[in-house]
Amino acid sequence: MATGKINVSVENIFPLIKKFLYSDHEIFLRELISNATDATLKLKHLTAIGEAKVEYGNPIIEVKADKKGKKLHIIDQGIGMTEEEIKKYINEVAFSGAEEFLNKYEDSAKDSGIIGHFGLGFYSAFMVAEKVEIISKSYKDDEAVHWSCDGSPKFTLKKGKKKDRGTEIILHIAEDSTEFLEDSRINELLRKYNKFMPIPIKFGTKTETLPKPDDAKEDDPAPTKEVDNIVNNPDPAWTKQPADLKEEDYKAFYRELYPMQFEEPLFNIHLNVDYPFNLTGILYFPKLTQDLNVQKDRIQLYQNQVFVTDNVEGIVPEFLTMLRGVIDSPDIPLNVSRSYLQADGAVKKISSYITRKVADKLNSLFKNSREDFEAKWNDIKIVIEYGMLSEDKFFDKADKFALYPTVDGNYFTFEELQEKIKANQTDKDDKLVILYASNKEEQHSYIEAAKAKGYEVLLMDSPIIGHLMQKLETSKEKISFARVDADHLDNLIKKEDTQISKLSDEEKETLKKNLEEVIENKSYTIQLEAMDSNASPFIITEPEFMRRMKE
Ligand code: ADP
Ligand code: MG
Repeated sequence: MATGKINVSVENIFPLIKKFLYSDHEIFLRELISNATDATLKLKHLTAIGEAKVEYGNPIIEVKADKKGKKLHIIDQGIGMTEEEIKKYINEVAFSGAEEFLNKYEDSAKDSGIIGHFGLGFYSAFMVAEKVEIISKSYKDDEAVHWSCDGSPKFTLKKGKKKDRGTEIILHIAEDSTEFLEDSRINELLRKYNKFMPIPIKFGTKTETLPKPDDAKEDDPAPTKEVDNIVNNPDPAWTKQPADLKEEDYKAFYRELYPMQFEEPLFNIHLNVDYPFNLTGILYFPKLTQDLNVQKDRIQLYQNQVFVTDNVEGIVPEFLTMLRGVIDSPDIPLNVSRSYLQADGAVKKISSYITRKVADKLNSLFKNSREDFEAKWNDIKIVIEYGMLSEDKFFDKADKFALYPTVDGNYFTFEELQEKIKANQTDKDDKLVILYASNKEEQHSYIEAAKAKGYEVLLMDSPIIGHLMQKLETSKEKISFARVDADHLDNLIKKEDTQISKLSDEEKETLKKNLEEVIENKSYTIQLEAMDSNASPFIITEPEFMRRMKE
């Protein structure tokens, strides 16, 4: 047997990186701004622990497009790199300085928010650039260094000209990528990936109107001033403590996340946990229509405030993908397939934590403001009913607050309903028969008839309610659902209550025959004397199972 070491030569791997590292070329900007952010956060950390004896100040990151020169600049005021560090971190592909930093400062830096870890992000620059330059001045050094590489494995390294601490990355944008020099495209990327990154990002300037001085005349124009155009909000709501946020702050953040949503969310759930995994976020219950396909504004997934995706499939349980908001967790492995994700232990824990938090929030709303909860029921029931169907753990929790409205607009929990009907609505096998209508108008006379008998009739009209009823029938003992126009009604009728028909037996037979001829379908049953005199003279019913079969 022979063992050996596979020799990865840069010559071979470089074109591969260029081509296949990321399928989405646009993420190069996210990667470079992430590095600039890391460099700034590292400096923040080192000054905080006294290892870097420099002024941290109020650093920003600047993105500058030079359309004429076909260059894009990303400039930070972070720790910078010495010549040695460039050799180590940049020239060694797949060596992550971020990971090394986190290992070195393990305890003190674990909450520093540092983003990088694969040691490949920097090279994504070559997906859009034919040449990349780094001019960097370390906080430890008086001299700057200048690295430059045209995409071949050869690079040059020389003394650089740079006055201030930090790093400037210059991308010479390739012919096929000039879109990334356009303001509109850059703005689009910054909005998508960097909107909530923790260090202020400047892109150009904007004109700000100042208040008029006291001695200004009526028609003097208000003075203006050019200020940095900061494109991000470095302190988004989800990074704060719930205790520091008011209802209005949550609503304002919702508008920030979804500027095109004019409808206010119904309520929010603040997620905040750091053990056994790290997760923060805010989820919102939007007003949902019955159309399950309306899924444009989705939950956004971030890692350390960097946008990753708005496809959270596999990370949150499916029934919660109808919610909106933000989840931020560095513990979600992203370089893996979705099916692997679902099997991942950490992800499973995250998913069940989210489910539990949502259930707890709903439960507390139900307990503390039942009236409000009832008023919102129609807008939230889809999520809850879907959750009860798909997640047993959620079913157990939701069973206590899920509501069953009657046709008259009263809301019962399942337990309350059982209590209410147990005296009057059992069949011969002592099973509770829960009557419901699926359409108030169409089933009007059946509803009236049932009410006349003193029965409660639920209004069950959401699209998945049929499945939920089946689930309830199998998970609860001795209950069954029957639509008001089903033959079960007959089984419930106490014989002494029934009206004595004015028709003779012979007349009844004839009438029944005639009706049967008209309706043809033999699965229907005709009842002539079950009805209250105020309601219809007779009713036609169909067995519950027959109707369900047809659905
Ligand atoms: P990662 O961020 O995953 O560590 P990258 O390929 O993105 O990997 O970057 C490699 C290393 O290069 C970083 O870890 C860091 O040490 C260094 N580096 C990259 N950009 C900068 C920068 N703007 N300032 C200081 N160091 C940087
Ligand atoms: Mg990186």
